[in-house]
Amino acid sequence: MAWALTPLTEAQREIQHLAQDFAEHEIAPYSAQWDRDAYFEPSLVEKLGALGFLGMLIPEEYDGLGLDTLTYLVALEEIARADASAAVMISVHNSLPTQMILKWGSADQKERYLRPMARGEMLGAFALSEPEAGSDAASLTTQAVRDGNDWILNGTKAWVSSGTKGDVILAMARTDTPDDRRGARGISAFIVTPDLPGFSVGKKEDKMGLRASPTVQIHFSDMRVPGDRLLGAVGSGFIYAMQSLDNGRLGIAAQAVGISEAALRLAAAYAAERKQFGHPIKEFQAIQFKLADMAMRVAAARALLHAAATAKDRGERITQFSSMAKLLASEAAMAVTTQAIQIFGGYGYVKDYPVERLFRDAKVTQIYEGTSEIQRIVIARELYSKR
Ligand SMILES: Cc1cc2nc3c(=O)[nH]c(=O)nc-3n(C[C@H](O)[C@H](O)[C@H](O)COP(=O)(O)OP(=O)(O)OC[C@H]3O[C@@H](n4cnc5c(N)ncnc54)[C@H](O)[C@@H]3O)c2cc1C
Repeated sequence: MAWALTPLTEAQREIQHLAQDFAEHEIAPYSAQWDRDAYFEPSLVEKLGALGFLGMLIPEEYDGLGLDTLTYLVALEEIARADASAAVMISVHNSLPTQMILKWGSADQKERYLRPMARGEMLGAFALSEPEAGSDAASLTTQAVRDGNDWILNGTKAWVSSGTKGDVILAMARTDTPDDRRGARGISAFIVTPDLPGFSVGKKEDKMGLRASPTVQIHFSDMRVPGDRLLGAVGSGFIYAMQSLDNGRLGIAAQAVGISEAALRLAAAYAAERKQFGHPIKEFQAIQFKLADMAMRVAAARALLHAAATAKDRGERITQFSSMAKLLASEAAMAVTTQAIQIFGGYGYVKDYPVERLFRDAKVTQIYEGTSEIQRIVIARELYSKR
């Protein structure tokens, strides 16, 4: 059922099958249990690293696979079809911290962090949000103050995905001063590791969905960060974060397409099996129309996502395109998983079948890496930007 709307090359299909096979054997059999227990399986990182899936977009010279964006997203969709929590871990790592170090990191930072991250020896996380700074991320208050060659950081980061397992956390903090506030240009990016004195992991969120992805608060309390952990230029951290989110949003769109595809397949199979009034329910037009709408939404979301990915691979600016892909795919995921539950009837509402998990997992795709409202703001703003 997973039509490739952009014809995939032989090499792209190979990676897709590798991801499919891995997801089928190493993830799908456990995802219901991991969801129930809110459990993150640490061996996943090692296994994904061995496959090269934690260095998909990192060039081979830094031990990555050096894949194009489309191939990466096709693989990510396959993982998300089995488990949205595993998919977000892979998406954040591949789209945000590794890309930031690749693009703006020093030669030394690439050797120390990027290379082991590509091999899966270190897992990456991204810490922009704070308890009081979500959609308005530029209002963040974590403060970094220079002390000789070091920086001293104080503040709390919220909602950090893979935060309990993250070995390399790209954290945004203010480097402007209270008497010289510079807004978004007063924010810098730091490479933070949990061994720094003053680093601690706080509250773990008890989430509706995506339960096998640990989401935590992180506290910096007089945390001393060596000067060589500053990423790129002072005052450019917010710009780096926003540019990276263009990539990140494609990852979340792929996650949403994977969730939708899983729900569509389960609903179509169930409709063929479940009999009422002496007929399989797939023979009722009301059910056929639901399946038709679901299939159309999945296809449309995947088509836009693949178009955005190929635009990125052509080197085009994709701010608007990636917001559109994320918005369409996440709204599709919510609609498709809702209809899947309807097709399952009462059985869709209980944990014996996976559609209720897909529904819970779908919801967050409309919230993180920019809510649907924020995506609409970006799309509309881009209509007026000079190209
Ligand atoms: C499971 C999960 C994992 C996450 N992982 C990470 C992570 O790894 N790293 C990280 O940095 N962050 C992460 N986040 C944070 C996420 O990006 C934020 O939750 C998101 O940006 C929204 O911020 P908020 O929750 O503070 O909501 P708010 O910004 O308070 O928004 C509340 C509501 O108001 C709306 N709203 C806000 N401003 C406007 C406006 N100008 N116009 C119209 N509507 C508006 C929003 O759309 C929303 O509906 C994660 C969140 C979750 C739930």
